[in-house]
Amino acid sequence: MYNVPENTGDPKTQKRAAGPPPTFLVSACLIGLRTRYDGGAKPCARCVDMLAGRAFVPFCPEQLGGLPTPRPAADLKGGDGFDVLAGRARVIRKDGADVTGRFIAGARQVLDLAGRYRVAAVLLKSRSPSCGVAPAGVTAALLRRHGYRLIEF
Ligand code: SF4
Repeated sequence: MYNVPENTGDPKTQKRAAGPPPTFLVSACLIGLRTRYDGGAKPCARCVDMLAGRAFVPFCPEQLGGLPTPRPAADLKGGDGFDVLAGRARVIRKDGADVTGRFIAGARQVLDLAGRYRVAAVLLKSRSPSCGVAPAGVTAALLRRHGYRLIEF
């Protein structure tokens, strides 16, 4: 974790903040980590700027679900991430393989990760069957359902 202390003001009156510092979770590919299905990244200057001087933890739900990098692209079929969680839709790879279980497993790992921090917000990569917010990917849907603040880039 990259952790830069917050500016808490006048040191004479400064009190130690209760609990851990607020932390951002971020889709790993947005900060330049090569986690995408094609082995590339999708660095986002706006996202990196927002994280400057703040504590953050990168994650990739598809890797956490046990999928390799690179990997065949996959898409939501029959609905969005909420539908996948409800069993009404699937995640299907370009070669026809059903990877729904991997996507749900990765989403659960991210939820578990989020539970270890005082999360300020989760910054998510748009147009991803895992991380996309609108339409919701599987991880975004699970995080939304648990009340996390989501910001899409
Ligand atoms: Fe980026 Fe999310 Fe795709 Fe991983 S699953 S490569 S973090 S968009």
